[in-house]
Amino acid sequence: LVDVDDVYKSYGEERVLDGISFEMDRQDVQVLVGPSGSGKSTMLRCINRLTDIDDGDIALDGTSIFDIDENDLRRDVGMVFQDGNLFAHLTAIENVKLGLKRVRDMGDKKATEKAAWELEQVGLREQANSYPAELSGGQKQRVGIARALAMDPKLMLFDEPTSALDPELIGEVLAVMRELADEGMTMLVVTHEMRFARQVATDIMFLEDGRIVEHGPPEQLFEDPENERTASFLGRLT
Ligand code: ATP
Ligand code: MG
Repeated sequence: LVDVDDVYKSYGEERVLDGISFEMDRQDVQVLVGPSGSGKSTMLRCINRLTDIDDGDIALDGTSIFDIDENDLRRDVGMVFQDGNLFAHLTAIENVKLGLKRVRDMGDKKATEKAAWELEQVGLREQANSYPAELSGGQKQRVGIARALAMDPKLMLFDEPTSALDPELIGEVLAVMRELADEGMTMLVVTHEMRFARQVATDIMFLEDGRIVEHGPPEQLFEDPENERTASFLGRLT
């Protein structure tokens, strides 16, 4: 489904992605870990073209993302950020409806029905008419997930979706992500939640200085890492 082929990206003199290649099959849950500044967010942003790449190629379903209409790409690739990124002046359901009407050209009635259904899926039926300021951090993140899912994406990108949350709210967001994985959604997840990674990931990649240092199933990375750096990094998190 996703084919990242020898991708390079620099900001000025600084090389942030230094020849990254990996593939994802449908229903894979690929977890991306690595120290701060190693290029994790940049990698995610390149996949839905929020950031341009300097060299290499990224294909979705066999088509280079540079040959896909940007609107279509944003619909097919959902992204959830650290802070939910909701519009403060719109209610939960209005936040979810926005993309349905703008990107998918849905009428108001259909969009309302679809948005209500998506909110229910993430356990927020009661909060549909609440404004972001009236929601907890975990609820806001779930609205963000519902908004991305409403587009029926082929791939979901998560960039540290729980790292801004109080510990007691992390579980509810991870539970939604876990359910999504169980339902077969293809997901690329940047997270420091190692228990989630261990239980849900099909593969874990360890990124350092813009390179993939280690890549394999969770059992391998946690129990028998080939690279000393991986071992010490994972050791610190678990
Ligand atoms: P973190 O764990 O802190 O989120 P990260 O692995 O997501 O880190 P990136 O955000 O991808 O790291 O950043 C990688 C490097 O690229 C950093 O050194 C950062 O300063 C630099 N960088 C990221 N975005 C930009 C930008 N828009 N302009 C210039 N430099 C940038
Ligand atoms: Mg980041």
